[in-house]
Amino acid sequence: MVKRLQQEVWALNRCSGCGVCVSACSKGVLHWGQEQHPLLEERQKALGLSHLKLKTCEPCQQFCEHSCPRLAEWTPMEPLSMASARSAGVVHSGAPNDVIQALLVAARSSELLDGVVMLDMDPWTLQPIARVVTTVDEIVSCVGTQYLWAPVLSSLNEAVFERGLTKLAVVGSPCVSEGARRLMNATHPRLGPYQKAIRVTISTFCTGVYLPTMVTELLEQGKGIAHQQIRSLSTSVSESTLTATLWDGTEHKIPLTEVEPFTRKGCASCDDYLGESADIAVGEVGARPGYATLIARTVAGEILVQEALRFGLLETVPEVDVKSLQAAKEEKDRRARAQAFDEFRVLMLDSLSDPAKRAQVRKQFVSLYGASQVPARKREECDVSCSGC
Ligand code: SF4
Ligand code: SF4
Repeated sequence: MVKRLQQEVWALNRCSGCGVCVSACSKGVLHWGQEQHPLLEERQKALGLSHLKLKTCEPCQQFCEHSCPRLAEWTPMEPLSMASARSAGVVHSGAPNDVIQALLVAARSSELLDGVVMLDMDPWTLQPIARVVTTVDEIVSCVGTQYLWAPVLSSLNEAVFERGLTKLAVVGSPCVSEGARRLMNATHPRLGPYQKAIRVTISTFCTGVYLPTMVTELLEQGKGIAHQQIRSLSTSVSESTLTATLWDGTEHKIPLTEVEPFTRKGCASCDDYLGESADIAVGEVGARPGYATLIARTVAGEILVQEALRFGLLETVPEVDVKSLQAAKEEKDRRARAQAFDEFRVLMLDSLSDPAKRAQVRKQFVSLYGASQVPARKREECDVSCSGC
């Protein structure tokens, strides 16, 4: 049943929108609607004049729970190597997307990979789309993550079951790597095909992604930039700006404070900035000017880096400002904890009038304070009449 997702992830605004539960659902009853989390399909059966609501996800072996990264405890993977890197093929660039593209092109050329699940953007509508790409040309034509949200892992079934790919890379934000890692570590046999197919995950550093409505509401209506004019979007933590690069080469820089209201709710409680469950993480912070920081955390990650160096598609220098990385990581951690405590306070107030929320309060308390249980309070000490003890 999807109950744990509903109570512990969706109701608490913790859903990252990775999409892995939608792929893993054996009954295909999870789908995306207008909410910031998946929805459970509702079906009814007509019995005479009355309608009976069907339990669409029963019986089930809870594949969504086995795969959702928000229901797992994480141990960050330590870096095996770190460097400043830039692409060195046709384009010399330290943009994280170009560095990732160099890694993917080399790995596809040497048949280490047969496909990639990654983000692209429809150039006509500027809407983000998750794509399954299998050729070097397709990899090069993808613009990569533009910090606009789309559920990347919802495309996994196309890659694994429809196309039969067995040497897959998954590219996305840290939460996408966490979802893929849960599948890679899964013990449930039904999740075996994903486990066998996903070989490597690549993550960008991430402070949060924006809802696609940001394009119409902020860029078009607020700034007067028609979406047809925009070629790409990028964010810079050091400059605190979102840059919209137009097809004619001009750049519009927008302060992140104006963009932040469009951040997905689930990002507020996320503490993974450095893609700590990804084989490779790439981002702007900590790198030498004109380069991106490249962190390899596994042997598979290091192999991809070596391959790109061998093909001459990547250049690296052993220079990374580790203090900046640590500061950016801690900043996100602080933000996530502050948000979690704010939400906990709201939840406690709600639970005074809604007894159904008390179970959520207990779970949140345990996760925030690390206590094994909410301390029992003697009824005579209590000044609130809630009947919840
Ligand atoms: S975090 Fe991912 S797996 Fe969990 S509920 Fe949200 S979309 Fe589904
Ligand atoms: S901040 Fe980034 S990694 Fe975290 S949930 Fe949002 S998109 Fe995912």
